[in-house]
Amino acid sequence: MSPQSPIIIIGSGIGGLCAAGLLARYGKQVIVCESHTMAGGAAHSFRRRGFEFDSGPSFYCGLTGKDSLNPIKQVLDALGESIQVIPYDPLGHYHFPETSLAVYSNPAQYHQQLHKITPQGAKEFQQFEQRLLGLYEAMKGIPTLALRSDWLVILVLLQRYLPSLAKMLPYLSLVQSSVGNVMDATVKDPWVRRLIDLECFLLSGLKAHGTIAPEVAFMLGERSRGVEYPVGGSAAIVNALVRGLEKWGGKLRLGCHVEQILVESGKVTGVRLRNGEVLSAAIVISNATLWDTYNNLLRPEDLPAAYRESALKTPAVESFMHLHLGIKADGLDNLTGHHVVVHDSSQDITTPGNTCMISIPSVWDKNLAPEGHHVVHAYTLEPYAGWESNDEYEAKKREKSQTLYRALERIIPDVRKRVVLELIGTPLTHAHYLRRYQGTYGPAIAAGKGLFPSTHTPIQGLYRVGDSTLPGIGVPAVAASGILCANSLVNVGQMTELL
Ligand SMILES: Cc1cc2nc3c(=O)[nH]c(=O)nc-3n(C[C@H](O)[C@H](O)[C@H](O)COP(=O)(O)OP(=O)(O)OC[C@H]3O[C@@H](n4cnc5c(N)ncnc54)[C@H](O)[C@@H]3O)c2cc1C
Repeated sequence: MSPQSPIIIIGSGIGGLCAAGLLARYGKQVIVCESHTMAGGAAHSFRRRGFEFDSGPSFYCGLTGKDSLNPIKQVLDALGESIQVIPYDPLGHYHFPETSLAVYSNPAQYHQQLHKITPQGAKEFQQFEQRLLGLYEAMKGIPTLALRSDWLVILVLLQRYLPSLAKMLPYLSLVQSSVGNVMDATVKDPWVRRLIDLECFLLSGLKAHGTIAPEVAFMLGERSRGVEYPVGGSAAIVNALVRGLEKWGGKLRLGCHVEQILVESGKVTGVRLRNGEVLSAAIVISNATLWDTYNNLLRPEDLPAAYRESALKTPAVESFMHLHLGIKADGLDNLTGHHVVVHDSSQDITTPGNTCMISIPSVWDKNLAPEGHHVVHAYTLEPYAGWESNDEYEAKKREKSQTLYRALERIIPDVRKRVVLELIGTPLTHAHYLRRYQGTYGPAIAAGKGLFPSTHTPIQGLYRVGDSTLPGIGVPAVAASGILCANSLVNVGQMTELL
């Protein structure tokens, strides 16, 4: 590539920003084109009347600390950036129709809570946890920053991580296994089985049999080291990544929608923006979802027909209903920040509207709301199909938000009286602001039924990052996808220098 030819990254989601930051750190000329006027994609924050809302993620661990496994932390370290955090425990409360459970990072405290509900289940849960924590301990020796998505990864691992590779050997069968298999082997108690299904669903959008074991091993291991909220909200992570990108010479262009990825004779030649401007590049990385990339950014003939057809058939997790509230905080002194409410035990936890997630980050960071107030984000799955911006839209939006209000009433019984600001988001809102196909949470690729695609595509010079590539959905996973992509575009020498 000539020194004039930049690498263009379409999208400033966490996956795009991590790839961009690292490539800038490796000395590449990098331009991130973000369609929205704010960076961060699903992780962006927005401000209304003094309330700072997280649009998506709010549950984080391993953002600080010396030997964190979190790929975000590894990228921030590589860029020479850091963020401030507020640690907290219990990390959340799960509210089932029959009872509520405090979930602690500290495993002993968590087991005690489980023991109160089901003594036998608590024992079985510990066996389940031990099996997965064994895998976490083995994974710990190999930082994500040492991985790349081509065969050269073998060279790096053999050269630098032989003892850690040896530790992984007993867990090889577990790496591709589903959490459901581990659960079947260790847990009979139906209450704990539902709990495990719920924790998997919160992570991957799928229950235990659809979720891969390393994902949950990573979550259990990292959260046992403590959970933390970034001071300033999710925007603090995004801002740190943008600062790091710019510090190393990369550029972020906001309000810069890419209309088309230009391909000639099977090779990328650049991108065309919505304003007609053409940016030439031999390497383009798309952080848009696989459906958006293959359907909207490429011409059908740019991809082999069979590959395109099979990629576009990838099933997608539903979209969301969101309720963003500013509420009065008087008398809510003991409020905690994370809650999950399951309304009806006779319905599946994945049924839209049945499981509601709630985050009230101003209990940790007071600056996210005006004095005497809290900022609330509640959300639940909601199918995209059937939503249209027509005469019934407002009424449907209000009706569908009721499940979120009912969930909030489990935590704050008089929440409706406290509301000073209300914003309701539908799958249309989610798809519009995040530029995501049908507002999806991401691909529904169940363990054993397929693998998340790698960063490579059949088009020379076109790569993909984000939650429709390996390893999958969630902030740590998409940060890992950015690392895998960036590392695959430099030589082993550059990688090991950074390590
Ligand atoms: C409600 C919700 C709660 C969540 N909670 C958590 C949590 O607590 N913890 C956790 O770890 N994960 C959580 N997640 C998941 C996590 O937020 C996502 O998996 C992750 O942020 C997705 O990042 P990404 O890199 O795939 O890209 P995205 O966030 O999808 O960003 C892609 C970017 O590309 C841009 N773009 C798309 N098309 C174009 C174009 N043509 N031109 C220019 N730009 C374009 C978009 O505008 C967007 O900014 C949550 C997600 C949601 C929705």
